[in-house]
Amino acid sequence: MAKIHRLPSRSSLDPADTWDLAPLCASDAEWEKLYARLNRQIPRFARYRGRLGEGPQVLAECLKFDAAFDRLAERVGTYAHLRAAEDQTNSHCQAMVARYQNLATRAAEAASFIRPEILSLPKKTLDQYLTARELAPWRLVLKRILRFKPHTLPAREEALLAMQGEMAQAASHAFRQLLDADMKFGLVKDEKGELVELSNATFSKFMVSPERSVRKAAFHQYYAQFAAHEHTLAATLAGSVHKDVYYARVRGYGSSLEAALFPDNVPQTVYDNLIAQVRQHLPIVHRYYEVRRRKMKLRQIHHYDTYVPLPAGRQVRHTWDEAVNLIVDALAPLGEEYCQTLRRGLTTDRWCDRYPNLGKHSGAFSSGTYDAPPYILMNYHPEVLNDVFTLAHEAGHSMHTWYSARHQPYPYYGYVIFVAEVASTFNEELLSHHLLKQARDDRERAYLIGREIDDIRATIIRQTMFAEFEKQIHAMAEAGEPLTVQSLRATYRKLLEDYFGPQFVLDDELSLECLRIPHFYRAFYVYKYATGLSAAIALSQRVLHGGKQELDAYLGFLKAGCSKDPLDLLRDAGVDMETPQPVQTALTYFGQLVDELDMLL
Ligand SMILES: [Zn+2]
Repeated sequence: MAKIHRLPSRSSLDPADTWDLAPLCASDAEWEKLYARLNRQIPRFARYRGRLGEGPQVLAECLKFDAAFDRLAERVGTYAHLRAAEDQTNSHCQAMVARYQNLATRAAEAASFIRPEILSLPKKTLDQYLTARELAPWRLVLKRILRFKPHTLPAREEALLAMQGEMAQAASHAFRQLLDADMKFGLVKDEKGELVELSNATFSKFMVSPERSVRKAAFHQYYAQFAAHEHTLAATLAGSVHKDVYYARVRGYGSSLEAALFPDNVPQTVYDNLIAQVRQHLPIVHRYYEVRRRKMKLRQIHHYDTYVPLPAGRQVRHTWDEAVNLIVDALAPLGEEYCQTLRRGLTTDRWCDRYPNLGKHSGAFSSGTYDAPPYILMNYHPEVLNDVFTLAHEAGHSMHTWYSARHQPYPYYGYVIFVAEVASTFNEELLSHHLLKQARDDRERAYLIGREIDDIRATIIRQTMFAEFEKQIHAMAEAGEPLTVQSLRATYRKLLEDYFGPQFVLDDELSLECLRIPHFYRAFYVYKYATGLSAAIALSQRVLHGGKQELDAYLGFLKAGCSKDPLDLLRDAGVDMETPQPVQTALTYFGQLVDELDMLL
């Protein structure tokens, strides 16, 4: 039963339960001084404008100034954001964030000449720069800018593209307004017979209701709204796809997929491999739904039957210290330094803001900087096992930051999204492994396995289906085929049939799902979730079953920041995402989990 208690106010908290921001910035007064210093530096970018072709010395000075500015801005911006996250009703801190954003915009404008000016330098100058001693620390920065040269247009055309930025977001903006503001889903009776508002936020809660009639009613009522707006939703999605196709074409990429993969330097084989591997393993996924159907004692399984935990979890309480002990024990394979640093960070060094309070930012995140501890925001509930997993996840991000900041110079410490979710989900894998070893009975084991299965299903299988849909509808647009309600829903319906299998009952409305996924407005992004968890599963197995060499390779990855391209970093760590192996390993593991669940229940 949910206890009714009010959240405490920020000022009433025990400081030991909050983060200590002093190493980042001593006080709000100190922040004002740093802010003023940063503000005074903005005009100094102008010193370098028009001069980057003068010689390697000038360019090196400019890049050094830019990086130093960035490094201080990171501190100033992070402090403002963390202070505001403590209590979002604190208008003083909200104003700090707004002032920082304004400063960051002005700084970005002042520095905006650097990239185009480098890109417009003659080839002879650039060749000389790439071997110049003064520019040695900046060589990779330069190379990364120059990769874009073939896709950069003459100045006037670039200016036109920059000017249409806001217009290009119109489709996505209209979608969000419709989804978040205009669509109303009405009320649904929950299992206690109480009327609860159905919304994008509560839909997932209804989907885990133990009462089938509640799930079913919520499902049909939710999708009725999407059916009522399907033409508008198809038009906004088509608009967003056409925008992607347009930008890829004007910049001379072979396709919109190629354009999206280009910044991470990821070849399309990685994307296609992922889809091919998941497709090859779909019979295991279909078998899982069949196991689920049997265990739930259903005659037929529908989509609204796939989120209920199987079996229900037992309530286990973990105080903060117990959770930290559990996580540190689970991460023991990562060695002394990792574990001791993290333990101190989560206890005496106060990296983490632990519990909910009035006005606090919801959810959880890790927010690191180069010059201060990698902070973590939590809203920890001792009764919720998922919160222990969340803490292990965020701790993975924070330790990634901690290692990279210690082993890389500033320009190469910040890791990109493609690898970020590896370090975090790796820790969840170790925690899951540890808890399974400790499980006291079959029921506990079954719960943990069910949890792990759901995680792989949501992160690898579902996101790969999304990735395949994105690939198909972009290819359709590129071939000049119309994107309509019918063509979008038919394309999606076919994927649902493939991914859920012949035994699964697909309600007609389910194909409307393709019109409600916000990530589709940021195309070719979700595949990174699937590759990230696949890499994490493969790497965690390597570290668990390997020796010092495997561990050092993984720690080397955590220390490497962005000093290499993402695929090279992962290759050094021990997984090659250009081969089918890592995804295969993850899905084989998925199959083993399904077998075991079937036996245990
Ligand atoms: Zn994460």
